[in-house]
Amino acid sequence: MRTADLTGLPDGVTDALHDEGIEELYPPQAEAVEAGLTDGQSLVAAVPTASGKTLVAELAMLSSIARGGKALYIVPLRALASEKKAEFERWEEFGITVGVSTGNYDSTSEWLSSRDIIVATSEKVDSLVRNNASWMDELTCVVSDEVHLVNDRHRGPTLEVTLAKLRRLNPSLQVVALSATVGNAGEVADWLDATLVQSDWRPIDLKMGVHIGNAINFDDGSQREVPVAKGDRQAPALVADALDGDDDDDQGSSLVFVNSRRNAESAARRMAGVTDEYITGVERGELAELAAEIRDVSDTETSDNLANVVAKGAAFHHAGLAAEHRTLVEDAFRDRLIKCICATPTLAAGVNTPSRRVIVRDWQRYDGDYGGMKPLEVLEVHQMMGRAGRPGLDPYGEAVLLASDVDTRDELFERYIWAEAEEVYSKLAAEPALRTHLLATVASGFAHTREGLLEFLDQTLYATQTDDDQRLEQVTDRVLNYLEVNGFIEFDNQTIRATSIGHTVSRLYLDPMSAAEIIDGLEWAAKSRNEKLRELEGEVESKPKKQREEPGGFQRASEMATSDDGDGPIETDRTYPTALGLFHLVCRTPDMYQLYLKSGDRETYTELCYEREPELLGRVPSEYEDVAFEDWLSALKTAKLLEDWTREVDEDRITDRYGVGPGDIRGKVETAQWLLGAAERLASELDLDSALAVREAKKRVEYGVRDELLDLAGVRGVGRKRARRLFEAGIETRADLREAPKAHVLAALRGRRKTAENILEAAGRKDPSMDDVDESDAPDDAIP
Ligand code: ADP
Repeated sequence: MRTADLTGLPDGVTDALHDEGIEELYPPQAEAVEAGLTDGQSLVAAVPTASGKTLVAELAMLSSIARGGKALYIVPLRALASEKKAEFERWEEFGITVGVSTGNYDSTSEWLSSRDIIVATSEKVDSLVRNNASWMDELTCVVSDEVHLVNDRHRGPTLEVTLAKLRRLNPSLQVVALSATVGNAGEVADWLDATLVQSDWRPIDLKMGVHIGNAINFDDGSQREVPVAKGDRQAPALVADALDGDDDDDQGSSLVFVNSRRNAESAARRMAGVTDEYITGVERGELAELAAEIRDVSDTETSDNLANVVAKGAAFHHAGLAAEHRTLVEDAFRDRLIKCICATPTLAAGVNTPSRRVIVRDWQRYDGDYGGMKPLEVLEVHQMMGRAGRPGLDPYGEAVLLASDVDTRDELFERYIWAEAEEVYSKLAAEPALRTHLLATVASGFAHTREGLLEFLDQTLYATQTDDDQRLEQVTDRVLNYLEVNGFIEFDNQTIRATSIGHTVSRLYLDPMSAAEIIDGLEWAAKSRNEKLRELEGEVESKPKKQREEPGGFQRASEMATSDDGDGPIETDRTYPTALGLFHLVCRTPDMYQLYLKSGDRETYTELCYEREPELLGRVPSEYEDVAFEDWLSALKTAKLLEDWTREVDEDRITDRYGVGPGDIRGKVETAQWLLGAAERLASELDLDSALAVREAKKRVEYGVRDELLDLAGVRGVGRKRARRLFEAGIETRADLREAPKAHVLAALRGRRKTAENILEAAGRKDPSMDDVDESDAPDDAIP
């Protein structure tokens, strides 16, 4: 089918597609249109990666908008939201407006009501439904990208319930679900009352094979010689072979999938030795610039490691990377500047980074629940392999697994190359999932009785798949009981209502168990406040003061940040609850992914636990309660990371001390900020006097500073490091920024004029201009 023959789209769209080089629909796209895609028909498209699913979604959304409707595109990852938005923005010239909504789970984002296409994660959509966003019932078309993730234990239930609610709000809603090829796409289609379009068609051929000895054995029976020198490894030889084209155009990039972040980094170091041989003089210059840009993002060891390999044409990619780093790497790979990325499987599910060759080096991964190395799922390996082949650049893509003996080769063919992907199963009947979703369903008025709830649950994938109605009923009853005991819902005969606090919990997007934990902790703080304050003061006085008071009245920041290894004295501000107590409280909730205890940690944190016990908001579990005690310590370790962050310990030291990447620090910080914000709301709603302490702890996490810097760090463009430098130069507040001599400010900011101007402007200074200011006019002690 030709794109020119498409009807029902906004004017100009078909011509624009033609100009983009899309003249013919790919076969699965044509099948979708024939099935009624542009007439509002619901559809499940289960087709391989890179076979044009996005256009299927766009055709549905654009035709729905042309009929006066509004579309929602649900992405599985935040990182994908901005990519999709940028992609859809090319329709703006035809009058289509696009908005993206990811952050802040407790807002309704009313401004989105003016947009034709809204891009959001499933969690965000779920929270928008809970907060009764007014535009929700105007939706006519919803796209669910990577719908096979309903199978995911953590995130699946949210997607499932959200789709069920959206369909309930508008029974004639068009649902377009995009899926990888899974074993039971038909079941997903049944659930959504949708037509199934299923296909193995790919725009570029994919050759799959296993490398063993000196050759790749492909699934079509062919072989490609790729010798491996004695003592060398297979993956570098395969990367070199892909780059060994006959001419420039034939030079192929590689994606190497490994099973851990550490392996991604070490593999990238090895591959950099290979790619270094293939880069031209011009590329070397560009790569050096890119490496400098990477170092500019943050001065951490990860950043440094990344810059080092990027300078040689290789990179690593994992969830511990800062978002800016990820984008830089992905863009440079698409531009063919970076020749090889070593990645953990997160990349496979993520953004569009096609590659000539994909090498799945590790097909097993450590799994804590399983207690050892576990083979990856077929679906996951197929998604990695699907990244092979760059349309328009490669004649075909190659996906290669590695074997060292014939038995493994045969196993890999059986297990992955010939195998069908697994079936997907609803994970909704698990208690944690139902806890959250039942409360939300009651609070947002989707059901008012037990029967109503069960009827609502009947519209989920779980109900389509199960023969055992009893199980869902049993879990529902257990969860309702839990919610009632904790005061989130109340029964009035047959009618179930959310209590006021229940409504708040649902709107805050908290797991009710997190809310219960937070409320318990804050009540404990209120009850034991005076006694604990006495205990804390006693502690502080009985310990020698570690930090010296400067004659000038404030402590030297450099000493605080570096000599204080974080294991130091109880906070000297003698407030209660203390920041650490509050961090620990939010870190013990199921909404925070806690850090694992490594070997030796148990002793370290047990000691810390007793040392800081007066600050912790709750009774320390007995050491004999193994699981509870471990959890308590993991929460303490996580809380300690947050405390280090708010004590201005360098990011690099934090990553070292806790064995995490800079991206993880950000992740923990964001979650803590959200949970502390929720705790603040709960405290004020329950009239607990800790609301102020909670707010201060939240601000400190947000900026990563001690309390004396809160005012400064809140100025746009300042941040934790500059705030400390300014403070040391005697500029201690926003007001000081407005009045201090400019030369003083400039010297404290190490002579960066543009930065200084922006900061002064943000602080509300009338004349922020730095022209004619001479840094050397500043007194010596203004230079940190
Ligand atoms: P998927 O979402 O299935 O992984 P994409 O939608 O990202 O794949 O499509 C991959 C590439 O194919 C995109 O660059 C897209 O522009 C291109 N494409 C999609 N449909 C067509 C078509 N009918 N003709 C030519 N190119 C197409």
